[in-house]
Amino acid sequence: MKRRDFIAVGGLLLGSLPQAGRRVFAAPPLTSRLILLGTAGGPTPKKTRAYPGQIIVVGDRGYVIDCGNGIARQMALAGVFESLRHIFITHHHSDHNADLGNLILLEWGTNLKTPIDAWGPPPLSRMMRLFFEMNAEDLDVRVKDEGRPPLPPLVHAHEIDRGGAVMKDDRVTVTCAVVPHPMIPLALAYRFDCPDRSIVISGDTHQSDRMVALARGADVLVHEALYVPKAPGEPGSALRTSGWRRPDPISPDKSSWRTIYSKFRYNPGAWSQCPGVISWPACVRLPPQPRRSGRRGPPARPRYSRFRS
Ligand SMILES: [Zn+2]
Repeated sequence: MKRRDFIAVGGLLLGSLPQAGRRVFAAPPLTSRLILLGTAGGPTPKKTRAYPGQIIVVGDRGYVIDCGNGIARQMALAGVFESLRHIFITHHHSDHNADLGNLILLEWGTNLKTPIDAWGPPPLSRMMRLFFEMNAEDLDVRVKDEGRPPLPPLVHAHEIDRGGAVMKDDRVTVTCAVVPHPMIPLALAYRFDCPDRSIVISGDTHQSDRMVALARGADVLVHEALYVPKAPGEPGSALRTSGWRRPDPISPDKSSWRTIYSKFRYNPGAWSQCPGVISWPACVRLPPQPRRSGRRGPPARPRYSRFRS
């Protein structure tokens, strides 16, 4: 080998190997975090639990699912308030959407200058338009007084009227399924296929083949569980009987599913068809807290979540 060739090969080798005194870093793989921002269900405020809401954060980008009242503060407590990029609404029950507009408004009032995409069943676009109309005075004043960019052009509402593909970016692929929710015209469950795992959020639904199909092969399933004795309505009402999960005995076949947290027994049968899925019951309707006789318990502290993954 000629000296010139030797230098050339050496140069190639040096170029392909870590050089002494210089550390070579590979780009870290993007990992997902799931934070349950609220796990209480129903319209009544709770002392110790927040309204439904979850966030999946991939890298530094946040995907919020449902916006129960207080979602912005829950996000602040969790340290993810400024990560918001997308919002997904499962259905238009007030415990799931009351702060959809407020979250966007508070993000904008803080520092939002980049687009937000909101996804959900109709009439999502009309709701956003009416929300901006209701808050026109605040929007106008902050633009003039604080130099903020006009908010409505930053918000893109996307109405979903069927199951299937929702959106895809360089970190997450989102699909959805139409799920049964009595009296609600259209309710959705969402699946987030992240770089490291798949997470499914059921919203409120009873047993559904479409829900099971959406969750099949996923790593985490967050779903509603209902404590039937405290469900709205009289014994025998729709919420307490057919179609809704009931507090049946825990499945004897524990090999096919695993529960991270369950305050009450719930029916895991619907999910036993999804082997490997870790199910997290959320939005549990709690019975009244037992009173301690003679002394008061500690004051309720706000919490953003007891559940992290
Ligand atoms: Zn609902």
